[in-house]
Amino acid sequence: MSLIRRLPSPELVLHLTFDDGPASMGTRETLDLLRRHGVRATFFLVAEKARQNEGLVRAMVDEGHTLGNHSLDHRYGVFFRGTQAMKAWIEEAEQVFDAMGLPPRVGFRPPNGILTPKVFAAARELRKPLILWNLRFYDSLWPWTRAKAERALARLKPGSIVLLHDVQRPQNQKLFLETLEYFINESRRRGYRFEPLTLAATSNQISPSED
Ligand SMILES: [Zn+2]
Repeated sequence: MSLIRRLPSPELVLHLTFDDGPASMGTRETLDLLRRHGVRATFFLVAEKARQNEGLVRAMVDEGHTLGNHSLDHRYGVFFRGTQAMKAWIEEAEQVFDAMGLPPRVGFRPPNGILTPKVFAAARELRKPLILWNLRFYDSLWPWTRAKAERALARLKPGSIVLLHDVQRPQNQKLFLETLEYFINESRRRGYRFEPLTLAATSNQISPSED
């Protein structure tokens, strides 16, 4: 199974992932907060945005974060086309990242986590791990509040992959960062530590029998 929602672990580890960036508003603020707290995470980048905000992507790498492929342009049209179009869409994003000289991506996360047979077929043919999440807050739609974070903290599982968005609506930005700080501190108080996803860990989840 090449679909990853969590990386089960005997240790108290959490994987924060941030989608939809980089953007001139939100990404730098998120990076600063993570650096202040010594947290390394994984950023699932939209390739066209990465090209436009190269400095922010460099900062991610320099500050020890890992990168994932969150498609070329985050549009949905390709989902109505064939497997070859899906493959080309994923690969075009990879080419953008490669041209920027970035380290290998840990896998592909389709926009909105949409999974279709074509997504599976394309990922399998490209040997890309498909990476979703097992914990989300819909924080790109509604404010991420402390109450929502608390409910999640009460049922944390080791190896959880947490979906967040460094790109927030302007009115939610401040609360998002406050809640992120709270979530980090409270997770640690419960004994958890944070680790970025790595290609070694995600590709390990692809079973050879799928060839
Ligand atoms: Zn997205």
